[in-house]
Amino acid sequence: MVKTVNKIAVIVFGPQGSGKGTQAELLAKKLDLFHFDSGSYLRTLLHNPALQKNKIIRRERKLNEAGVLNTPSWILRTTAEIIKRATALGQGIVFSGSMRTFYETFGHNENEKPNKKNGGVIDVLKRYYGNKNIFIFLLDIPEKESIKRLTERFVCSVCKGLLIRSELIDLGKIKFKICPFCGGKIVHRIDDNKKAILVRLKEYKERTQPIFKELEKGGYKIHKIDGRPMPYKIHEAILKKLK
Ligand SMILES: [Zn+2]
Repeated sequence: MVKTVNKIAVIVFGPQGSGKGTQAELLAKKLDLFHFDSGSYLRTLLHNPALQKNKIIRRERKLNEAGVLNTPSWILRTTAEIIKRATALGQGIVFSGSMRTFYETFGHNENEKPNKKNGGVIDVLKRYYGNKNIFIFLLDIPEKESIKRLTERFVCSVCKGLLIRSELIDLGKIKFKICPFCGGKIVHRIDDNKKAILVRLKEYKERTQPIFKELEKGGYKIHKIDGRPMPYKIHEAILKKLK
């Protein structure tokens, strides 16, 4: 028997560069939620030296390094495990970077019959958090803006955590060449070259966007939020919908 926790589960959807990670992080801090950033979690998992003998890990690592999406059934199992652990600790959760595929979300492909027994991540969330505690947001930004942001994304080579958009760096004509936090050198994020960005945006359109319609069919409300204003403004808009 699953024990439902009375905490919220928030999913932040949006194309790459829409600021999902930033919004999820702000929400996690504000509402004391566990931030599940699947991208960075998977990278850590796949590069764990203790797991390199595992065939599945090796296979998934190759996919990850090629910049394509990981196997949806594997992601689904991994994510379900995270949800179980979070709820065991009585934690609310916020997702950025997942779900990315129809299969991962619903447990079957678009043209297949639902697998009633297991379902997908959304069904796992429903089981553990209850329908009324699930909140879904979609950060909306034009593709052009997405590409611009991604190609101009900078990161500190030392503390990594800080991503700075060039328009922020130019703010007030102050140009940071070093990280204001640790003094490390600021570099371009390596995987953010134009070709890789276009591949990711194409995958978003083809594999992630079909999820939204199906969620709405299932009675979920998707709150569309303009992803263009400053992050703190977007954060306020999201909080309003959570009240
Ligand atoms: Zn730094």
